Parts: sequence; structure tokens; C-alpha cells
Amino acid sequence: MEEVGTGLLDRLDAMQRVAASAPGGPLLIVAGPGTGKTRTLTHRIAYLCAELNVYPEHCLAITFTRRAAEELRSRLDGLLGPVAEDVTVATFHSLGLALLRENAKAAGLPPDFRIADDTDRAQARAEAGDDEAAYTDLLRAQDLVDLDELVTLPLALLRDDAELVERYRDRWRWIFVDEYQDVDADQYELLRLLSPPDGNLCAIGDPDQAIYSFRGADVGYFLRFSEDFQEARLVRLNRNYRSAAPILAAAVQAIAPSSLVRGRRLDPARLDPEAPLVGRYAAAGVTDEANFVVRTVDELVGGVSHRSLDSGRIDGRVSNVSFSDIAVLYRTDAQAAPIVDALSRAGVPVQKRSHDRLRDRAGVAAIIHELRHENGLGGSLAARVRLAGQVLAQRFTAPTLDASGAASPEDVWSAVELLTPLAQRCGDDLPEFLAQVTTGAEVDALDPRAEAVTLLTLHAAKGLEFPVVFMVGCEDGLLPMRWPGATPSDDEVAEERRLFFVGLTRAQDRLYVSHTARRLRHGGERECRPTPFLDVIDSALFERIGDTEPRRPKDRQLRLL
Ligand code: ATP
Ligand code: MG
Repeated sequence: MEEVGTGLLDRLDAMQRVAASAPGGPLLIVAGPGTGKTRTLTHRIAYLCAELNVYPEHCLAITFTRRAAEELRSRLDGLLGPVAEDVTVATFHSLGLALLRENAKAAGLPPDFRIADDTDRAQARAEAGDDEAAYTDLLRAQDLVDLDELVTLPLALLRDDAELVERYRDRWRWIFVDEYQDVDADQYELLRLLSPPDGNLCAIGDPDQAIYSFRGADVGYFLRFSEDFQEARLVRLNRNYRSAAPILAAAVQAIAPSSLVRGRRLDPARLDPEAPLVGRYAAAGVTDEANFVVRTVDELVGGVSHRSLDSGRIDGRVSNVSFSDIAVLYRTDAQAAPIVDALSRAGVPVQKRSHDRLRDRAGVAAIIHELRHENGLGGSLAARVRLAGQVLAQRFTAPTLDASGAASPEDVWSAVELLTPLAQRCGDDLPEFLAQVTTGAEVDALDPRAEAVTLLTLHAAKGLEFPVVFMVGCEDGLLPMRWPGATPSDDEVAEERRLFFVGLTRAQDRLYVSHTARRLRHGGERECRPTPFLDVIDSALFERIGDTEPRRPKDRQLRLL
């Protein structure tokens, strides 16, 4: 492999270096989980700017979540220093918002248009009924834009205005897109307009982690990249730095039946000979499963530390585990309640996030409404969020008041907790904060440093990694998901398998999978079988935890009671 004559790429492996230092033109990086996509992407941008004299302001990097955008931004800062600020780092929504702000007049909007909140939308919906055009007119009359229009409106402008397209092509001569496997039709068209077929578009992703088709994402765009962008270069990254070897082996076997990557390979960079097997627990019911999680968390966090000094890696078994190292992943939000209960009762702090929009969470809309309308609220943004919470919680306890957002005081307080880290990051910038809350997902408000066990839906866990991962509810009917009266199609089962793969590959050192024999679903208690996705994994990769006899309550540790 030819060496690149710079220290900048020293921290990359050979293939990552090939990707980071590839010349201009369309570039597709097909890379499995944990192969260092973010690292490669940031180094590519830094390399182009530092070594090939590309201007940072000519670079546009697009990620799927704000959390990922922040991560990219901070890593770029580390590599490039202050000039990194000139790189545009955006999500599709924030990019759309910026395009629309710059062209508000052409879009028939005033410069200070804002994004409709839930109250605005509910009012317009109530007045307009089913009449879609009337609904938009009502929003427009109040200078409001719906969230979904943040991509479609700029798209409409660009479609009709070749000069505008040229202006943006001139501004962003280098475009980078992470998680390209999950773009939808509008996002794809936007990218095609911004980037000519021979342009410098670098798409990076993994078709086997395409999990958003229910939102309109289409992995087909990834698979036909080389047809859309002729002369595209293809680089594959196969070396996984994240997961201990048994975890990776289990994940590779799990995805094999429906892999979209020809000759899918993932080679473990971590070969710790004593890496633990994947823990597998067969629970009697959800309470038993929740108690298994609590018991194991307690053992891990309270356990004896045993860390190898030279590498800082965990030697043989997990040690020095703190709550922030641990994630519990599940298919549906409804599965979280018994786990949250059990952890909380044992005194374990938790933070729970889904991939749903932030503003759909009960209490958030009410706080946003309050912040917008009650200019009496002073102080820092974080203080104002707290104050709005106080005002609302009082109002909601007063029975006669018809308060906006129909949330309980508990909802309001959990929304305050959720929004505070975001508010702190936004300083005093209320419009930025409002834009983040209206366009962001709950998982964007995740605080990776919080001393808490993180509970996430599998969708929300995309792109993240944790030393310890519990995947609970690995049952047929939940994974793959089966709705009453419907049989999932082959494509749907394949997507569920990819979701399973995403979950397994979040784990670094220790992975536990569990399933229960009974669960309350669709209004009744049902017998459950383990997911067939587990059947394709070699049983030698599992360590069965507990005996076949599920533990009875009297066996539980005192702390749980
Ligand atoms: P995903 O598909 O899950 O989003 P990814 O490809 O984006 O995964 P990263 O999160 O970028 O993976 O990297 C996974 C882990 O591997 C990170 O902890 C990262 O620091 C580490 N890593 C990546 N490349 C290297 C390398 N060359 N040497 C050592 N560690 C690396
Ligand atoms: Mg990633």
C-alpha cells in the first residue's frame, strides 16, 4: 500500500487511508459497523483541507442526527483546529432550513418564518379538515412551515432554478454523506441537485444497516450509486474495531441470510483470547427479564476491576464499568417500562430515548409553546426551560385550566430534563434551540456522559456504541415485529434482521441477549418463542446464563425487592 506522506492519516488503517486520501470525484465507502466510518470521514475532510488545499467552506457534511453532527464537528475541530468551523455540518433538516432561510423570499416566506409546533399544526388541522392545500395555506398565513417541508420546499426551489443550483454547487464543491443507506427520495434528489454526476460526492454507509424504510428511506439509492455517479470509486472497510470477536462473529452470522453486501466480511481487530461469549438468558416473563438486567448491571458495576494496564483494554472480563457504559436496547418503546422500573427501584439512574421526534414527546410541545409566548421568562435558556416547566406544572395541577399540549406535570418535568442538555448547548440562542427541538429526535438529546444506564429503541441506537449492551425481548413477534392480523413480507423480515444486526453490533466488550417465555401483547398474555434470528448463530458463541429453571422471586437479591 502506498504511504501517504502525512502524519494526519497515521491513525488510520490501510483501507481507511485509501478512502480518506482518494482523489476527487464520486466515492462510495461501503463499510460495516464499527469499521471507523466517522473516523474515516473526518480524516478525509481534514486531509483534503490540509493537504490538497480544499477550502473548508467548500465542504458540506451531512449526517442523520444532530448528535452525529455534533460528534463530527467536534472531531473535525480536533483535527483541523479553528478552520473546522468553516465546514458546513448539517442534518438534512438543518440543511433544508438553512437553504430556506437564504431563499425565503423566493419561497414566498418572510425572513423570520418559523416551523409549526404541535399547537399550530393541530389548529390548522382542525380548521382545514382533510383539505391538504387549505392546511398549508393556513400555516402560510401565519408564516409557518411544516417540518416535512424543510426538504421539499428548498427542493422545489432548486428544481426550477438552474442558477440557484449552480450557486450552491459552487459553494459546496465537496459533499459528504454519512449513513447513505437511509436516504429517502427527497433527500436523494436534493443531493443529486447539489452534486453533479461527476461531482465530489462521498457517500458512506452500510446497506446491512438500512432500517428506516418505514419512513421512506430506500437502500436502493446506495446499491445503485455506481450507476448514478459514473466513474465512482468504491472502497470497502472490513476491519471492525468496536466489538470483541465473539460478538462480531455472532453478528456476522446473524446478518448472513439477508446481507445486501456481496461477500460480507467483518474482520475483528480485537482478538482478546479471553473475550467473553455472548450471554443468553431465557426469562420466565418480563419481570424476570428486567431483574436479570438489574442483577447483571449490579454485578458489572460493583464487580472487581481488572484492567490490563498497557492497552487500557478490558482484559478477559469487563471491569471498571460505570452506568454510562451500559445500554439496554429493545424493539418497541413499550418494552422499556418494566426495565426502567426495576432499575430505578434498585437505585440505578437511567436515561431513556427513542428515535421519535423530540417535539412529539408529551410535555415538550407545552414547554416550547411557553417559551415562545411568555417573554416574561428571563435568564439563560436552560433556566428559562426550567422556569417554563415550573409555570406549566403549576398550571396543569390547577384543574380548571385548559392548558396547551395536554401533558401531566410528570410529562413536563421529564421534558425539562430532556431539553436541559440541549438548552445548555445552545447558550442563549432561542431560535437555534427551537429549531433543534422542532427538527430533532429524542436521541439527539442523549447525554453520553450522563452517569446513567441508557435505554434506547434499536432504531435510536444506530451509530452508537457501548461497552455493555443488553438486547432484551429477542422474541419472535417482536423481532421480527408482527402486528396483529398481518404477516410480515420477506422484505420486512429482512429489515427486522438488519435491525437485529444493528443492535448486536453496538456492543464493544459484553453483549447479553434475552427473551421471555410470556409477554403481554396485543391486549393479552402470550406465549413467546425466541426469535428465529438467534437460530442462525452458532450455539458455541453463547454462554447460557442461569439455569433452565427461571428464577423465582425468592431467589432474587435483596436489593431488588
Ligand atoms: P457504525 O456503522 O456502527 O456507525 P462506524 O463505522 O461509524 O460504525 P465508528 O463509530 O466510526 O464506526 O468507529 C467504531 C470504533 O472503532 C470507534 O470506537 C473508533 O474510535 C474505533 N476505530 C475506528 N478506526 C480505528 C482505527 N484505525 N484504529 C483504532 N480504532 C479505530
Ligand atoms: Mg457511524
